[in-house]
Amino acid sequence: MINFNESINIEKGYEYIKQAIDNKKISGDGIFTKKCNSWFEENYHCKKALLTTSCTHALEMAAILIDTKQGDEIISPSYTFVSTVNAFVLRGAKIKFIDIERDTMNIDADKIEKAITDKTKAIVVVHYAGVSCNMDEIMNIARKHNIYVIEDAAQGVHATYKDKFLGTIGDIGCYSFHDTKNYTMGEGGAIIINNEKFIERAEIIREKGTDRTKFFRGEVDKYTWVDIGSSYLPSDINAAYLYGQLEIVDEINKNRLDTWNNYYKNLKNIKEIELPTIPEYAVHNGHMFYIKLDSHKIRNDIMNYLRENGIYSVFHYIPLHSAKAGENYGEFIGEDRYTTVESEKLLRLPMYYGLEKEDVIYICNKIREYFKI
Ligand SMILES: *Cc1c(COP(=O)(O)O)cnc(C)c1O
Repeated sequence: MINFNESINIEKGYEYIKQAIDNKKISGDGIFTKKCNSWFEENYHCKKALLTTSCTHALEMAAILIDTKQGDEIISPSYTFVSTVNAFVLRGAKIKFIDIERDTMNIDADKIEKAITDKTKAIVVVHYAGVSCNMDEIMNIARKHNIYVIEDAAQGVHATYKDKFLGTIGDIGCYSFHDTKNYTMGEGGAIIINNEKFIERAEIIREKGTDRTKFFRGEVDKYTWVDIGSSYLPSDINAAYLYGQLEIVDEINKNRLDTWNNYYKNLKNIKEIELPTIPEYAVHNGHMFYIKLDSHKIRNDIMNYLRENGIYSVFHYIPLHSAKAGENYGEFIGEDRYTTVESEKLLRLPMYYGLEKEDVIYICNKIREYFKI
């Protein structure tokens, strides 16, 4: 049996978890959390990185930081995970869904401007499969209209856009370290603050609305309730597990890219299959390998065929605008040219750190067998 995803299992993970416990402080903002935060600040050249309990929570922090209010509008692709928009709906915003590009499954930057009104607060972009959106175009539109850009880079850790790490380009970036992502702490994430004006408040919101972080730095002599907030700090045990992976980030990234390239090489001359496109401006991180088939029916057929052969492949998002909550909290602006049809044709193949090369060959051979070639 070949699973769709398996948790990363590295020796250092055990060692660092033990160290975290030996440190006698496994609550939030312990030694390993600080090591992880600094790691991102130093390696990704961002102004502030803070681990959070999830990417969902990092997005909720982003919604609070930009002061999302009742009646504000947020522009987002419909082809994404619920958390991308839920965070803003929780604060009373309406979501304006727009179409994706056929090739990358990312938000179509050319369609953003038509959805902007005087109520638009932010554009939330999603770097699908760790492949960057067209960030120059998106940033230019946002600057022109004086609105924020939030990057949902849950899948985009260690991928780049023109040499900049995803998550470090917009005003705020959000990462996921969920078990299904490239680097994992079981459940977890990070918020990356690129717009300096949000740094101080981000620390407060993450610490239940208190200035406790300043207190620990000795900047105030007692800490009190100063703003709204919640508890967005992960345990240092989780951070310890993540830190072990950050130390070997290039090895993990390369391993995934090798798998991705192997799939690509072995499937590229099957005319019944469409393979992912990587734009010139993007260097991806092997987060996902998907194929697109001619129809919904063939997609589901192949998925069943692979399962009969012990291979777990999965489809992905049901467009949010077609879901019950999506109808209540948002609307699709413009034509749904690709979102629905392309999402129905997409199939994700097994992908995780350590997936064996022989397994990739076996999967590709089974796909050929399905097409009788
Ligand atoms: C996984 C994912 C999330 C949610 O991440 P969690 O850490 O599980 O909250 C949000 N957005 C996208 C695009 C994702 O892929």
